[in-house]
Amino acid sequence: MKKILILTAALGEGEDVAAWNLRDAIEHLAPEDARLEVLDLLDSSYGRFHDLLRHTFLAALNRAPKLWHGLYQLLGSTQFMEGQLDGLTRLRNSLRDVLRSMSPDAVVTTCPIYSFLIEEIYRDGRTRDFTLISLITDVIVHDSPWPRTPGDFYAVANDNVAEALALAGVPREKIEIFGFPVQLPLARLEKKITRPDLAKQGRPRILYLINSGRKKAPKILDALLEHPEWDVTVGVGREPELEAMARARASTAPERMEVVGYTRRMPQLLLGHHVVISRAEAGTVQEAVAARCPMIVYKLNSGPEEGNFSFLREANAGVAAEKPRQVIDWLERAFRDQGRLLSLWQKNLEPLGKPDAAIHLARFVLKKAAELSSPVPNLHALPAPEEAVTTASRKNSKLRHLPKKLLLCDLHTHTTWSDGKLSVPEIVDFYGQRGFDCLCITDHLCDPKRLLGKLVNLTGLVIPPGEIEAYFEEIEREKKRAWAKYDMLLMTGVEFNKDGYTAKTSTHLLGVDLHEPIDPSLDIKGLISEIHLQGGLAIASHPHEMKSEWGKNTLYLWEHVDEYAPLIDAWEVANRDDIFNPVGLKKLPFIASSDFHKPKHIQSWKTVLYCEKEASAIKHCIRVNRDVSLTLYRDHRFGLDAHNLELPALANDPEVLEYQEPDLAAKRG
Ligand code: ZN
Ligand code: ZN
Repeated sequence: MKKILILTAALGEGEDVAAWNLRDAIEHLAPEDARLEVLDLLDSSYGRFHDLLRHTFLAALNRAPKLWHGLYQLLGSTQFMEGQLDGLTRLRNSLRDVLRSMSPDAVVTTCPIYSFLIEEIYRDGRTRDFTLISLITDVIVHDSPWPRTPGDFYAVANDNVAEALALAGVPREKIEIFGFPVQLPLARLEKKITRPDLAKQGRPRILYLINSGRKKAPKILDALLEHPEWDVTVGVGREPELEAMARARASTAPERMEVVGYTRRMPQLLLGHHVVISRAEAGTVQEAVAARCPMIVYKLNSGPEEGNFSFLREANAGVAAEKPRQVIDWLERAFRDQGRLLSLWQKNLEPLGKPDAAIHLARFVLKKAAELSSPVPNLHALPAPEEAVTTASRKNSKLRHLPKKLLLCDLHTHTTWSDGKLSVPEIVDFYGQRGFDCLCITDHLCDPKRLLGKLVNLTGLVIPPGEIEAYFEEIEREKKRAWAKYDMLLMTGVEFNKDGYTAKTSTHLLGVDLHEPIDPSLDIKGLISEIHLQGGLAIASHPHEMKSEWGKNTLYLWEHVDEYAPLIDAWEVANRDDIFNPVGLKKLPFIASSDFHKPKHIQSWKTVLYCEKEASAIKHCIRVNRDVSLTLYRDHRFGLDAHNLELPALANDPEVLEYQEPDLAAKRG
């Protein structure tokens, strides 16, 4: 049983039509041996993908395809993508989950965005164990993103596209020309249906699909009826009013005009008529070409349809008409002199149409799915993120062997890298000695673009600009020691401070389990997206009003909770001594943290999880917010009177116990 995933998108270049036709063909060839899945992850109904992003993506693809050097560049350089980043992250995550749960042998993608996302998903150097086939439905390729997409094979519609890909650097052995995969019946019926021979006094047969310029349709029908030598079939689709109008006219000459509603017999109709009048939808154009039925495009739309038509025009196999009169003119010319012009169009269509393209492509896909014995090495391997754990992936991962247990976690702590009192090794020892299972260090990083951020950057109470790499490196070194000595998972994090002059314009956002620095001047959604792209958690720190003696409220996210709730992985329901009832009441995913700055802060709210002691399991547990609880932690080493602490390593540092809060915006965790 081969598993084949076909990823599609209804973007207007026939992606969808091609995907479904390929599916039908594979099922026809191997009804028992293939498990097939056709998915449109760009569909706004799937995975809450934002409709706006879909349109933005379309626009980017149509207008600025050169942006597609890669997903990151697109994110970075397309201003209107800002605020939509989360949609892409979600899309990536949906795709990752689909790949994991299905583990396909072959993936066919009709839209370059999926290829870029697959590249992203496998950035971590894992090998991709399926064949990736790009199915390029465009008939003309200018500045296409396709050559820059990763892929094992590129299935294309014609020689021109193959040539364009090769010129853009795709190795020729990866390019396969199949033609556009049109509906199966076109191949089956091709030889069985014949048109009347005009040279032998056969009557011209015209197929008029009323799918554009509907208002002028009565006029065109009347003009068609004025030619008693023509036979006309009128397609009205699922439009009752149109159908009534057409039937009323057809009734005046029933022997010459037939009306059909929605039909699955389009291949038969195209094969049985001499010419089709229609708009230039990719599917219709390709079927007409495969059926060698020249086309008169009525009311050409700009955008993808222009591309579809220019393919016909360049081949001199079709014309466009803007007015009803022009439609009739072209018909008269086409049928004149026993259909001389029509024969020329048909002859020009001959090399373009490949009615059996879907079958050949299906065979190829099945073969490649079966051939794959060794995993395909990923050429774009970069160091990278751990991935979220889905139930499906657990079956194959090392987690299968790890037991679930209660884990005591603190994911919001500060060190001397910002305004904390303990160094990284000291905090590791401090938490390690107390049997913590997971610790994330989240020192402050300020937005250098904000005035307050600029000021704070001068104080040494945030990670100094320029030292962020060293910060990541030091924590990275300590991770091994924490694990070896205390069996404690250490994570790198950052608390992004976006401080305004009021509580309502201030935000503190935690990035938990990061693998590389993130530009702190990104806007909040940009930060969240970057955190997610690294597989990290974006957590709102102290999102609600704090009652404790000091600390500046940071309420921006809470003021915009509906906007941010879909983007943020968890909200602090408790921070040190404060507990935020509204977070719990809103049923938001939560964690609780100490916002540790100095030893006495160990006496505070903490998170307890029930899952495997492994970073991805911990993150998953928090994301889905199951088996998560909070606990008010009291230290076993000393009583509630924190001033009587006996801490050998720190005993000679009185400041550790008597810590003065600096009077600055960044002081509060
Ligand atoms: Zn904070
Ligand atoms: Zn903090």
